[in-house]
Amino acid sequence: MKKLWAPWRMEYIQDSVIPGGKECIFCIGNNSANDRERLILHRGETAFVMMNKYPYNNGHLLIAPYRHIADFNGLTDEEFLEIQQLLGVCIEAMKGCMHPHGFNIGMNLGQVAGAGVEDHIHYHILPRWSGDTNFLPVFGEVKVISEALEATYDKLKEQLVKLMQEAG
Ligand SMILES: [Zn+2]
Repeated sequence: MKKLWAPWRMEYIQDSVIPGGKECIFCIGNNSANDRERLILHRGETAFVMMNKYPYNNGHLLIAPYRHIADFNGLTDEEFLEIQQLLGVCIEAMKGCMHPHGFNIGMNLGQVAGAGVEDHIHYHILPRWSGDTNFLPVFGEVKVISEALEATYDKLKEQLVKLMQEAG
């Protein structure tokens, strides 16, 4: 297989934006009825976790505050703390069902840094495997990716629910 991956290369970590779409994908509203289809994994108090619909690899997660803010330093203490906690929970959840060998965690601030949605800040979490042989081609079969996304969603959701219960 052609080598598609170089770690953390900006062109592959760019946020995915629906061309022409005006709605902010991170302004998710209060209706959680379609969270599975929307790939929203967890709703916290001030921030939430969703899967990237156009993942860099299987298990590519995004964490964002509910508030539509662009400024990293505009996060409240509560948001900042919860986002960090969610990062930790996501790492545990992935360890529990995907067994990655490592993680990339980061944020693209500004278009020049690869942010597709630059008005609403969000973290990326990528599980990594040595050799990255488990990776799905980003620009490969859309169908394969969407099926894989749902399967991964269910696995991660189960882990997250368990971890949240344990955390009380
Ligand atoms: Zn937004």
